[in-house]
Amino acid sequence: MSALPIFDDVLAAAERLRGQAHRTPVLRSRTADAELGAELFFKCENFQRMGAFKFRGAFNALSRFDAGQRKRGVASFSSGNHAQAIALAARLLGIPATIVMPKDAPQIKIDATRGYGGRVVLYDRYTEDREQIGRDLAEREGLTLIPPFDHADVIAGQGTAALELFEEVGPLDALFAPLGGGGLLSGTALVTRARAPQCKLYGVEPAAGDDGQQAFRSGQRVKIDMPRTIADGAQTQQLGELTFPIIRRDVDDVLTVSDDELVDCMRFFASRMKIIVEPTGCLGFAAARAMKEELRGRRVGVLISGGNVDVARLGTLFGMHEIEQLNASSGAR
Ligand SMILES: *Cc1c(COP(=O)(O)O)cnc(C)c1O
Repeated sequence: MSALPIFDDVLAAAERLRGQAHRTPVLRSRTADAELGAELFFKCENFQRMGAFKFRGAFNALSRFDAGQRKRGVASFSSGNHAQAIALAARLLGIPATIVMPKDAPQIKIDATRGYGGRVVLYDRYTEDREQIGRDLAEREGLTLIPPFDHADVIAGQGTAALELFEEVGPLDALFAPLGGGGLLSGTALVTRARAPQCKLYGVEPAAGDDGQQAFRSGQRVKIDMPRTIADGAQTQQLGELTFPIIRRDVDDVLTVSDDELVDCMRFFASRMKIIVEPTGCLGFAAARAMKEELRGRRVGVLISGGNVDVARLGTLFGMHEIEQLNASSGAR
């Protein structure tokens, strides 16, 4: 196992990302503050380049390639945002990129990856092993594999979002971050323990894919079947070898929320804050809403991790909810 990244690695990543990643805004909402009786600070990585924080980790990792690695190229496997992030970062750095993506990934993500000049290799996420496909490809073609979360440079890069948040708003009492494989959460944990040691840090997963919660509570990594959830950015089966020990050491708890709660948050962000957030990006806020009592009067950070969602899918998700409400109210009549 390679060495765990430390806070200094996040600081070094922030230097590499200067002028390359957007410094995303921290938004406030009076409505959200009123609902929770707390002060909320939303770090909006849905406004990051390619629409999610993943650009940070990808660019940091690729900018550390030596000349040979740059020439031969990078390979990756991803359910979407990491793919786009690698494709974009590779294009900016002049590195050829090959991405292994699930056949049923949102079309917007496949198109965007190709649009950034990435070569896309499709696979079936329910029957094939993407890591194996990625590894074989990398070996055959001499490519350097950059996985979506279990890599020290990726973790350090993802931590820069929280670094900016603390720089901008100062200490917080609690911070909520989406959790898939744990790149974002472990990077955030390194920053939180360095910058705001007293701050409670929570990782949030979709209830259908609670491998992180099981692992956190049992002290052992747990592997689950591919979860079925609308939070496609968190459809991971287990935490990483690097991300797990950091999360175990530095995170206060791992929480879960339902897909319905995610749709409610998407509606809140769209209607109240006028921002488009993908289902996975809503995990943090959904958990904060469910912890209202504990958070009253507190300063609470929420990482909004991304905004890549097909507009047609958005319509379906909102519409379905509308229809359920209609059914519920007509049933009550
Ligand atoms: C990848 C991703 C996550 C989960 O990040 P991990 O580093 O895998 O835990 C959360 N939200 C969005 C939008 C993502 O793209």
